[in-house]
Amino acid sequence: MNRRTIILSLLLFCSTLFFLTRDSLGWGSRAHPEIHRHAVRVLPAEMKAFFERHADTLAARSVEPDLHRRADSLEGYYHFIDIDRYGAYPFPELPRSYAEAVKKFGKATVDTNGTLPWRIAEFTRRLSDAMRRKDEREILYCASYLGHYVADAHVPLHTVENYDGQLTNQKGLHARWESRIPEMYGENFRYDVGAPYRIEDPLASAFGIVLESHLLADSVLALDMEAREGIPEHELMKMVERRGWTELRMSEKYYARYYKLLNGMVERQLAASARRVASYWYTAWVDAGRPDL
Ligand SMILES: [Zn+2]
Repeated sequence: MNRRTIILSLLLFCSTLFFLTRDSLGWGSRAHPEIHRHAVRVLPAEMKAFFERHADTLAARSVEPDLHRRADSLEGYYHFIDIDRYGAYPFPELPRSYAEAVKKFGKATVDTNGTLPWRIAEFTRRLSDAMRRKDEREILYCASYLGHYVADAHVPLHTVENYDGQLTNQKGLHARWESRIPEMYGENFRYDVGAPYRIEDPLASAFGIVLESHLLADSVLALDMEAREGIPEHELMKMVERRGWTELRMSEKYYARYYKLLNGMVERQLAASARRVASYWYTAWVDAGRPDL
């Protein structure tokens, strides 16, 4: 490494450290609202009118759980699960019941490893209760949050300990995959969102989504390495002025390569997110006895 490279790497490390603490992670501010809008679009007619009427609210509030982390330090733990801390895929060591998991590993361990699947199950119940009571305020709150958590479960790096590439010298990967790529290429994404379906067991389904995403995490990490290969250091990163700050960013050249190597993975995960969000909303509504909202 020459001196320039060392300085650049150090700057990149410091800037990612500053901008990308775990608390600032989640599908970006562009992807979450899009997911909610597409979820509304595919809902069955009997419940769609209510959701369509509040589509703007649901889109705007889709990012609220990420903002809520600033007010509540526990909120951050609801958005991920480092499931690889519990052994090997498909992680039979980890009881799917929260109470059983806590009994086995202790509450502190289970909570700090992330509680995303249990949060999804809890908010499905809460949404269903709110629908039964026809409590509009609570419905919008629960639907926004539930949608956010379900979408986060589709981000492969939300399911691994190496959530930002920090253990493999790939720091900042989290935002590159889930925020920058949708921002840069999202215009052309086709949302092929399938029809929503009733989820028999919301908790088992949440774990199913986590496992599915988890299987993609290796590719997310490996393809990032592949995308950097052969790009000289000075073409890999660039300084960008943003909101009065100077940030070091990966270059367009890197993103073009990484995006191509991912071969539609981000787009597929976004579409799958929208379908699952709609399915969870639909399930809550069916479980509430199909109320006229
Ligand atoms: Zn999140």
